[in-house]
Amino acid sequence: MLKLKDVSKFYYNKGLISTGFTKINLELKMGEFVVITGESGSGKSTLLNVLSGLDSYEEGEMYINGEETSHYTEKDFEDYRRKYIANIFQSFNLINSYTVYQNVELVLLLNGYKRKEVKKKVLEMIEKVGLAEFKNTKVSKLSGGQKQRVAIARAMVKETPIIVADEPTGNLDTESSKDVIELLKKVAKDRLVIVVTHNIEQVEEYATRIIKMHDGRIIENKVIKKVEKEKHAEESKYNKITIGNKYRLGIRNTFNIVTKFLLIFAVFLFISASLLSEYASFEQTEYETNKYGYNFYFRNLSDNRIIIKKKDKTSFTKQDYNKIQKIENIDYIINDDLLLDNEFCIYNEEDIYLYGKINDLRHYKGQLEEGRMPEKEDEVILRIPKDHYQVRNGLDKILEKNYSVRDDVTGEKKEGIALKIVGIETYDDSTFLSGGIWETNFYLNEKMLEYFRKNINQNYSTIKSLFNGKYYISQIRKSIF
Ligand code: ADP
Ligand code: MG
Repeated sequence: MLKLKDVSKFYYNKGLISTGFTKINLELKMGEFVVITGESGSGKSTLLNVLSGLDSYEEGEMYINGEETSHYTEKDFEDYRRKYIANIFQSFNLINSYTVYQNVELVLLLNGYKRKEVKKKVLEMIEKVGLAEFKNTKVSKLSGGQKQRVAIARAMVKETPIIVADEPTGNLDTESSKDVIELLKKVAKDRLVIVVTHNIEQVEEYATRIIKMHDGRIIENKVIKKVEKEKHAEESKYNKITIGNKYRLGIRNTFNIVTKFLLIFAVFLFISASLLSEYASFEQTEYETNKYGYNFYFRNLSDNRIIIKKKDKTSFTKQDYNKIQKIENIDYIINDDLLLDNEFCIYNEEDIYLYGKINDLRHYKGQLEEGRMPEKEDEVILRIPKDHYQVRNGLDKILEKNYSVRDDVTGEKKEGIALKIVGIETYDDSTFLSGGIWETNFYLNEKMLEYFRKNINQNYSTIKSLFNGKYYISQIRKSIF
């Protein structure tokens, strides 16, 4: 089904070349359950990206169903992804304000199915992943394990022959991880599943092949069970999205926003013009949603978040901010909200990983439970759900420890920066059960924020950005997975 011959992937960054992986040879068949492991930065995600057509390769040959792909255009790869690939991500990438049903349904609507014809399919899939009783529940109310089940349902309902999952259990506790892997195996049947994970023990009994990567190379490729006769790969059917669905989806999104805004009607009036133009560009959203299973630009889909864009697309001025600030019920404005879309990850020598999002310390209004407020630049505080498994393991294991920061692009340690958690607030969140990224908040002081802002902006875009009077030229990044 998929065959790589001496394939290499390089990155060009500001004149420097870095290697994603080199000279990979691999043949994967339908019916396989392939597990990829290896330390951070060894090239696992890059390999998944190339296999799923999200990223190009620079050297070698890649065959899809026997067809060589070096002549493939961006459009060919888009077709390939639509017909063959479904992705599952560590951070679920679901739309939190949608119900379970709506999340699963969305994929099919975006692939041109009519609402009526998908109902049975969607319900069956939800039943299969064991969430029938939650079908009308908003995803934000589910636990981490349940969210990943929804993501699996969404991936499966597309009926693509290949399922690609990059650390799907990275945010789950041991038990939910096990459930998720088991479910993946159960529903995937004769398809080709490729999973990246650190927890080899959890997948060992299901794997048909285990691949270990190190430094951009495959250092072990062990077949555990042979696939006797490869099943034919059925392409997933898709059409262009129907006008009706486009309209309805647009309405649904707008409607969700409107209900949120009833109390701040003035804001709605203020931004409605820009919203309308937003939905006129639904084409783009549709494309992004298809490619990544969610909107690429705003990864943090919190219901509490309102994104405002000016109709004439110019930057916000001080006067604009003041105007918005004066509106009733506006608590504060986050100017550089790209920070919120950044999956922040820190870790220490004891292998404690904490994922979350970055916030401005000046906006912190909580009450610390342990520790103290930051005094030095590298000190941070953490607001984390009580049910987070790291919290259950004991606050003393996280507090007053030094952490490295994981680079969101390369997966490697960010040099020259270290943080210390000096204070922790835990909070009761009945909707949280096992470690969603967006529910954990790090509060950083101005200096650190500035550092990450600059960093993130450079990673995410080609824009020339102005921060505190300084221009930064940024680099495009095609795919974050
Ligand atoms: P893993 O998923 O195993 O942690 P990745 O596939 O993310 O590793 O990264 C493999 C290597 O590719 C890293 O050493 C990193 O330096 C490089 N890399 C990945 N993405 C990019 C990128 N967008 N730009 C430059 N280098 C990258
Ligand atoms: Mg990775």
